[in-house]
Amino acid sequence: MTNPTINITPLPILASNYLWLIRQDLHVWAVDPGDSVELCKYIKSEGLKLKGVLITHSHNDHVGGLEYLLQAYQVPVYAPRHPKIEALAASFFRAVDEGDKLQLFEGVEACVWHVPGHLDEHVAFIVNEADSDIDKKAAGPHLFCGDTLFSAGCGRMFAGPAELYLSSLLRLAALPDATKVYCAHEYTLANLEWALSLLPADAALLDKKRRVQDLLDKGLASLPSTIRDEKQANLFLRTDEKALRQILSKWHKLQLNSADEYFSVLRQHKDHWA
Ligand SMILES: [Zn+2]
Repeated sequence: MTNPTINITPLPILASNYLWLIRQDLHVWAVDPGDSVELCKYIKSEGLKLKGVLITHSHNDHVGGLEYLLQAYQVPVYAPRHPKIEALAASFFRAVDEGDKLQLFEGVEACVWHVPGHLDEHVAFIVNEADSDIDKKAAGPHLFCGDTLFSAGCGRMFAGPAELYLSSLLRLAALPDATKVYCAHEYTLANLEWALSLLPADAALLDKKRRVQDLLDKGLASLPSTIRDEKQANLFLRTDEKALRQILSKWHKLQLNSADEYFSVLRQHKDHWA
């Protein structure tokens, strides 16, 4: 049996984005190249061969590097249907939608889930090493969730509605606990500070904050997170909890009833936070 074959690393780009690289030996896939200058340098310096690009959604900080990248490397761009992405990727565009499966490397597959809410077209890629042995099962799948799910937070609700966004998040939360979560931004600490402003004594939030601070102090990314961590330390996945609901009702000053309403008010609270 072989050990896990892929290596996943973040390339920090723009103000706070991570461009994730999924690498096997000298072959690499790039997720959400919002800028490609650093990526082209990295590919050259490491002597890599770019196999293709995965795109989660159409925001500039996820697709802005496509044009330049495709001039340097003529590779397929797997992305949800959206006029802007289709124009940027031109003949390299390959549409993906719910349930599609892509083979990234031999024995390594990416499954596409449609997860609307941040934007309508948003997709997530769930990468599995199909020829799993016990070690790989323990490692869990790898979730590339773009701006749908952040560690201890979620994306702004540009598309909505709340019901749909919440169902996308809860669907991701139902992945195995060991699933590694590769978010597209380094927002974790700020998200935890916001969450602690609501629940200052919450043990899971305090524990996650300590671990995140430790990683950041060492100059490392706070990511990947795990689904286990997110279920414990992400308030957007905890809107059924009584203590949180009481705080939100008080803040909103109106009676809230459904999970969607609590989610929507929690998102508004985050939007208003400094
Ligand atoms: Zn976005």
